[in-house]
Amino acid sequence: MPYVTRFAPSPTGPLHLGHAFSALTAYRRAEVQNGRFLLRIEDGDTSRCRPEWEALIYADLRWLGIIWPEPVLHVTAREGIYANALKRLDELGLIYPCSCTRRDVMNALSAPQEGAPMGPDGIVYPGTCRGRSMTTYQPGEAIRLDMAKAVDYLGDVSRFSWQETGPYETGPHRLNTDQLIHGVGDIVLARKEIGTAAYHLSVVIDDAAQGITEAVRGADLMEATQIHRLLQALLDLPEIAYHHHRLIRDEDGKRLAKRSDAKAISKFREEGLSPEDVKALIGL
Ligand code: GLU
Repeated sequence: MPYVTRFAPSPTGPLHLGHAFSALTAYRRAEVQNGRFLLRIEDGDTSRCRPEWEALIYADLRWLGIIWPEPVLHVTAREGIYANALKRLDELGLIYPCSCTRRDVMNALSAPQEGAPMGPDGIVYPGTCRGRSMTTYQPGEAIRLDMAKAVDYLGDVSRFSWQETGPYETGPHRLNTDQLIHGVGDIVLARKEIGTAAYHLSVVIDDAAQGITEAVRGADLMEATQIHRLLQALLDLPEIAYHHHRLIRDEDGKRLAKRSDAKAISKFREEGLSPEDVKALIGL
């Protein structure tokens, strides 16, 4: 199968060194395997995404020497497709509406002061709205996956595996019932409106639509991969490999935040650095 990968930035700010590392790692992996490198713009959060940031992403990537085929996939163009996937999960009886705010979730935890159980998607949902039917869905509510039902529907989830091709935990991985139910829990699949898919749902659907064979991304998403593999299994989407690369940190060892403009590629450009200088800064 020909190699296909992608870079999936959110246009919520300038690309920084961490993004450059991610995009270049994906681009080079495609190059050495005579494969394809695609772009996917994660512009689903319309309150934070801006066309100016998207234009800057393109300019920065070109400056780094990266090219990609058009058209670029935009998350905002795919609401109907995500809604169809939710409909399918609804027909299987695996989703429910949820009106809980963050505060509701904290209040429902038996002993929040002892530290809420954390999964790859944040606090493991205590299940307040579980059991509600989708017929009671009100616009503005979120939609959650009933993890126990999803696992039950799939049967032996250890059948579902994936390859980690990055430097950490390299090798085959498998889904695990206990981990999914207690360590991940009932994740949010859509926020506020049926078509506004949450990241986990849109990324899985779009990776399949773009024919991605290996997702290249930061090691911070390593733990979320089990969610992606589970959704692929539920939606009959193909298994893909995952390559989680090291994170670029600042001088204090802190992960570069998305909004850390100090390390913006555009800033290095303005200061007169060359693309090679920027590559050297991130060890490439
Ligand atoms: N926009 C996501 C990020 O920057 C992409 C995650 C992914 O590649 O799956 O972390």
